[in-house]
Amino acid sequence: MTHEQSSHERAFETLAIHAGNTADPLTGAVVPPIYQVSTYKQDGVGGLRGGYEYSRSANPTRTALEENLAALEGGRRGLAFASGLAAEDCLLRTLLSPGDHVVIPNDAYGGTFRLFAKVVSRWGVEWSVADTSDAAAVRAALTPRTKAVWVETPSNPLLGITDIAAVAEVAHAAGARLVVDNTFASPYLQQPIALGADVVVHSTTKYMGGHSDVVGGALVTDDAALAEELVFHQNAMGAVAGPFDAWLVLRGIKTLAVRMDRHSENATRIADMLTAHPAVSQVLYPGLPEHAGHEVAAKQMKAFGGMVSFRLKAGEEAAVEVCNRAQLFTLGESLGGVESLIEHPGRMTHASVAGSALEVPGDLVRLSVGIESGDDLLADLKQALA
Ligand SMILES: *Cc1c(COP(=O)(O)O)cnc(C)c1O
Repeated sequence: MTHEQSSHERAFETLAIHAGNTADPLTGAVVPPIYQVSTYKQDGVGGLRGGYEYSRSANPTRTALEENLAALEGGRRGLAFASGLAAEDCLLRTLLSPGDHVVIPNDAYGGTFRLFAKVVSRWGVEWSVADTSDAAAVRAALTPRTKAVWVETPSNPLLGITDIAAVAEVAHAAGARLVVDNTFASPYLQQPIALGADVVVHSTTKYMGGHSDVVGGALVTDDAALAEELVFHQNAMGAVAGPFDAWLVLRGIKTLAVRMDRHSENATRIADMLTAHPAVSQVLYPGLPEHAGHEVAAKQMKAFGGMVSFRLKAGEEAAVEVCNRAQLFTLGESLGGVESLIEHPGRMTHASVAGSALEVPGDLVRLSVGIESGDDLLADLKQALA
């Protein structure tokens, strides 16, 4: 998009399709080509065309995605990585030094917790766990060495909600940065930078890619100095998104808005059905008025997303059985694709947090509600619960 064209502020749906997606100058191809290339011919030593010299540093397909990500999150700079955890690793090694401290949530993606507990802590970084849905609990967990507060909202797998603006204030008052993992909401439903976050993290494997066909990650920041440091570390450490993976994520993002609308609509119907179901003891979905974070979610999210968790009255074996009996809901890890998935977090995605402060209940089932017919999804869950 040229500068003249963007003088009228364009809506999210338009940016999702057009930001970073300029027509190829050579051929006019309307979709950015997959630049499957490692190096670039120089016009004399140091004569780079468009700044490209080697694809770890920059690649045009990745640039297209990174510009798109920055536009969608309302940040100055987007960076695309080989996975969500690669993005997190780059961010943590950019922000933290030995002796620094981080506040992490008591409910988070198991791999994020493992990165703190088993990897980063070996480098002398300290962390403590707080209930981030309570800004006072975050404040109480801060130390003079706290450099970052890490938040995931909605959280995985308990769908907890953190008030981003409130925690941003608490973190900034202590001189710490606020990091928000926006994987569950996507920028269509929630814009953490506008609410005060310093860095947004994504597993683009999930809703951004949206088709269960790529693993990727992203960081977005509006802080120019931090962006420069992140770009340096991205290149120095090298866990970048490859051209084809970047292209798949860029393609997935074009339909993000319509997908998130349908994910949210189907999830709402399923949460309502589960709430009324006699085998279910609790439904965890921020769209339900009885959810503890409902009001905050309604304030900071456009809709409530496609993730629903629920607990079975009959306990862990019953939860495992429901997962096994589902047919249209595919039993598998991951989330955010067009196809519905079901899983048992305690034995699958969150096995790595067993015995920690982040342990999840055994009677819990997590759904990633897809964009199939809502009627078909309801019918499948009802038979699985019968
Ligand atoms: C999957 C996930 C990650 C990790 O991303 P990968 O792409 O699997 O490395 C981080 N945060 C959340 C909330 C996730 O769901």
